[in-house]
Amino acid sequence: MGDTYLNLVNSGVTAKIAKQLGLPQPAPLRRYRPGAPLLGGPALVVGTGADADGVAALLSRTWDVEVHRHATPELRYAAVVLVLTQVSHPDELSAPVLAAAGVLRSLSRGGRVVTLSREATADDAPAVAAARQGVDGLLRSLAKELRGGSTGNGIVMAGDVAADAPSVVGALRFFLSTRSAFVDGQLLTVSSGAGTLPETWERPLEGRVAVVTGAARGIGESIADTLARDGATVVAVDMPSAGEQLTRVANRVRGTALQLDVTADDAGTRILEHALARHGRLDIVVHNAGITRDKLLANMSPDKWDSVLAVNIAAQLRINEALLTSGDFTDAPRIVSLASTSGIAGNRGQTNYAASKGGVIGMVRATAPLLEAFGGTANAVAPGFIETEMTARIPAVTRQVARRLNSLQQGGQPVDVAEAVAFLASPAAGGVVGRVLRVCGQNMVGQ
Ligand code: NAD
Repeated sequence: MGDTYLNLVNSGVTAKIAKQLGLPQPAPLRRYRPGAPLLGGPALVVGTGADADGVAALLSRTWDVEVHRHATPELRYAAVVLVLTQVSHPDELSAPVLAAAGVLRSLSRGGRVVTLSREATADDAPAVAAARQGVDGLLRSLAKELRGGSTGNGIVMAGDVAADAPSVVGALRFFLSTRSAFVDGQLLTVSSGAGTLPETWERPLEGRVAVVTGAARGIGESIADTLARDGATVVAVDMPSAGEQLTRVANRVRGTALQLDVTADDAGTRILEHALARHGRLDIVVHNAGITRDKLLANMSPDKWDSVLAVNIAAQLRINEALLTSGDFTDAPRIVSLASTSGIAGNRGQTNYAASKGGVIGMVRATAPLLEAFGGTANAVAPGFIETEMTARIPAVTRQVARRLNSLQQGGQPVDVAEAVAFLASPAAGGVVGRVLRVCGQNMVGQ
């Protein structure tokens, strides 16, 4: 689905007119291409102490990035990493933050700012908690100031999680890379040192078998493509009525198709039986199938309410229960569910949809502990405005406004959601449990 305005304001004379009129000028986002270098220029790593030294060494020695520890103002940096894990008083934010400030004006297009900090808890001394929580506010505001398709995101380390824990390293790579093109203004908490670094960052899902529901089109189709690109064998699931499109997707990713209504009572066992019979195992389940039946609650019919809840949340609960009790979903399994910013911030006309998507967020939080014993995780991805058939049905003017209401001033592409799903499904994300990662360009609604 295209964004004509974005193309217009980035070409020749119309770009000039848009600038003179002060109209939004969304920058085309750079997206991941296998084989491309992690960053297109040097990175500045600010902060002192062992964590900052470790991050600098990781970037320069392991990831082959040119790293500077002090800003050279005239240089164009591709990324700035602010390591703020040692701050114990708000006063200590000043030096590292202002050191980074000096290079922001000349950050490359599609540049990256990533903060690394520790979680603020009620057990901290007040000054420590103030400094740590201050990083959240700083990051969210800075992300709103960046231009040219640049993004700002943060990694928050809970408890005694080390800065070299697999999920900290994995999240850092994800946020620095073009895989996170439409993730902006987000803070992702790493709860534990679980997870493993992949043998290759290009194909982290090698040897894993993944089921993707709603895979015949839209975001689900892109998730199937992306997981297969990252090395997974994919079982593409969708309604029998979408059979032809489903076969096309399954063939393209060299996986298999399973025609199935996810609301069927036996959907969980059928998914598991198919995966075991055809591929010998099941490691990753992506609950993507979803529907909308929008109406103001005052006009809501039981059918509209019940069908949305049945597909978007009840089916996921039933399938998860079948998998968790089967004894065949125990080798570092991953569940990734599609939530929505509507389930966080609410949306007029979507009480049924938001109840189901809020439900997804509650479900992953409560399901994650059940999987932790097997090195497993459950997490959610909450897309904002994504250019799909679902959003193409929104009336034109509302659609134009809706897709500009985020820091990147554009809608995301299905692949942006798929990249976040692939990250959460990867071995390196084993320490990210029960969380929600928004893929919304830092939508103005919600937190
Ligand atoms: P889409 O309507 O383009 O595709 C959904 C797919 O799910 C379709 O192929 C459909 O056949 C399938 N499906 C529906 N009911 C099913 C069932 N009972 N059993 C099996 N398959 C079923 O939707 P999309 O835009 O690609 O959205 C995918 C997911 O992302 C949904 O969960 C949606 O709520 C969520 N989401 C989308 C957006 C967006 O902007 N497009 C924003 C937030 C969240």
